Order: sequence, then C-alpha cells, then structure tokens
Amino acid sequence: MSHSATTLLDLTPAAASLRLAEWATAEGLPKYRAAQLVRRLWVAPVASWQEATELPKALRERLDRDFPLPRLTLDTLQDSADGTRKYLWTLKDGEKVESVLIPSASRRTLCISSQAGCALGCVFCATGLMGFRRNLQPSEIACQARELVLRDPEDKPTNIVFMGMGEPLLNWPAVDTALTIFNSPAGLGVGARHITVSTVGILPGMKALAARPEQFRLAISLHSPLPAERLALMPIEKKYPLKDVIEAAKAFQQRITFEYVLIAGRNDRDKDALALASLARRLGAHVNLLPLHPGGSDELVPTAPARIREFRDFLTIRNIEAVVRRSRGLDIDAACGQLRVQMERKRRAQA
Ligand code: SAH
Ligand code: SF4
Repeated sequence: MSHSATTLLDLTPAAASLRLAEWATAEGLPKYRAAQLVRRLWVAPVASWQEATELPKALRERLDRDFPLPRLTLDTLQDSADGTRKYLWTLKDGEKVESVLIPSASRRTLCISSQAGCALGCVFCATGLMGFRRNLQPSEIACQARELVLRDPEDKPTNIVFMGMGEPLLNWPAVDTALTIFNSPAGLGVGARHITVSTVGILPGMKALAARPEQFRLAISLHSPLPAERLALMPIEKKYPLKDVIEAAKAFQQRITFEYVLIAGRNDRDKDALALASLARRLGAHVNLLPLHPGGSDELVPTAPARIREFRDFLTIRNIEAVVRRSRGLDIDAACGQLRVQMERKRRAQA
C-alpha cells in the first residue's frame, strides 16, 4: 500500500537525522549537510526540497528523488466567525481527516486526528457513527500541524490536543512518534505540558503514555461516573471499565482532565455531579464540561445552558475545578468528525 511507505516525516527528528547522515555519507557529501537538511523537515519546513534554496540545485533534485516529502491535500477550509478554523484533509489513499485550529488571546490550539474514523462507537460522536477506516501514519498526524506552518508560519500551534477523529491510544506506535515530533526542539518544539492526549481509557496505551519521561497531559473522556450509564454511552466501558481506568490514571504525575459532554437526562443529574465530584477529588482532576454538539445519535438532547452552569457550580462548591468549554466554531461543525460527515452527505446529495 503506497500510503504505508515510510518517509523522513514518519521518523522522529533524531531518526530522520541519522537517515540523512547515512545518505549524505553515501552520496559523498560533507557531514554538516545532515543538520542543515533536518531543519527543513519541521523547524523551517519546506513543501518540497526545491524550496530549500540554500542548497545547490543538484542536491535538491537528489533529495526530491530519494526523500520525497509527503503532503496532505486540503479538501475544505472553513472559517468560523469566532476565529476557529477547520481543515478537512485528503490523504494519499483518499481517506479524509479533520483538524481544527482554535485561536485565543495567547494560544493557538490545534485539535488533530489520529485515525480515520473510530471503532469505538460512542453514541454522541459523529466519528463514532462513521466507524473505523484506518490508523494514520506518524507523518499523517504530524503533518496536520506541518501543513499549517507551510501555509502560514504565524499559524504554528502553541498547543496540540488529540481530540479530533479517532482514539489516539489505539494507534500508539504512530502517536508515540508524533508526540516526539511535536515536542522535540528539532521538531515543532511544542512543550510537553502543552500537548494533550485525550482517551476513553485504553489501558495498554495509558501505560505506554505514562512510561514516557516527558509530561504530556492526559485527558480522560469520562462522560459518566456511573459504570452502567457510561456503558450505555460508550461501549468501551465493557472492555476497559472505569474503575481500572481511574487506577491507571494514578500513574500520571501531571494533573489530569476529565472531559464530560453534557447530555440531558443521561449524565447531567445531581447524582451524576456528586459521583463525578468524588472521582475528580480522588485523582485531583479538573473537569471540562462540553456542550453536546449535534452529529451523534439523534436521540440525544443537549443539556440546557442554565443547567450546564448549575452543574458546574455544583462541582465548584465542592472544590472541584470545572470549566464550561465554549462551543467554539459551532457554525462550522467543529465537533470532531462533523465536517467529514457533512461533506460526504453533501457530495452524496449532489451525485
Ligand atoms: N477518542 C478520543 C479522542 C477524540 S474525541 C476520546 O474520545 O477522548 C475528543 C473529544 O470530543 C472527546 O472528549 C469526545 O467526547 C468529544 N466529543 C465527541 N463527540 C462530541 C459531541 N457530539 N459533542 C461534544 N463533544 C464531543
Ligand atoms: Fe471514538 Fe472518541 Fe468519538 Fe468515542 S468520542 S467514538 S472514542 S472519537
């Protein structure tokens, strides 16, 4: 399969540097060339080696022949009135994944995808409805940020969250490499504490992430503190029960976040808030409350804004740090998976 071929952009910067150094030696080039070349992958990226005009033309041609740099093709770009920008990318084999850039006063947070589709079928999630297509390669994950920098260096993200399509901890080898690319000074240089991996609680993946020496942040998609009710929203509860996920979360030194999409009558009652407060207290976690976006099952109703505030206050007075995340980019379908689903509907309608 052509899309699984390894390129320099699928390697950590250190591994890419080694590969380039070997190549430079074989080509009879001076040693310093490798360091000069590796900068062009992530630090000062070029769309193709032809753009690296500091290099002799013949060398650029050899590089393009031996190390072509893969691109993601922009399918759709949507701008929201609040500054949120949504990108739908086409991959080599035609699969489509999304990223969302969310600017605020001091940050540019990029929400990225780790899989095309998702196998886990959470009932509220548009990506879940789509089913699983395939894992992304490291380059397909990391290039969601690289493409932004190529388009405009000012768009380089300051923060990265794995909250787009897919379950990152079910694609661990690729996510592992992508984390290094994002974090490394020879990569995109984003601080580990500014990179968040969001998971429903895949235990082997949580173990692997906790074993990394950098302090990447962990967000657990909780959505209900009550196992039976969580199971009705998230089938994965059967395989990896909440109590084990909470145990595994204790291996993380850094503060953990609970993601909690509020759904009327399903997880927004006082008894839910009480059990949630108790779990959050046990882990010292803080809670992100998310208004339900459309795109998942039609039967789910978003919690009313007044009740969302009450729910937050219920947690706050129990000394749990809870914030209501603003629904950024609602006018452009910025919940994960929504843009792809919506574009596919539109194209089917036109066909
Ligand atoms: N699979 C991982 C990461 C991708 S989903 C996970 O589930 O954590 C990222 C976040 O988007 C999750 O917290 C998920 O609950 C949230 N999300 C999914 N569908 C949503 C919807 N319809 N409205 C609001 N948030 C949603
Ligand atoms: Fe997959 Fe996350 Fe969506 Fe659940 S919420 S279906 S795990 S992408």
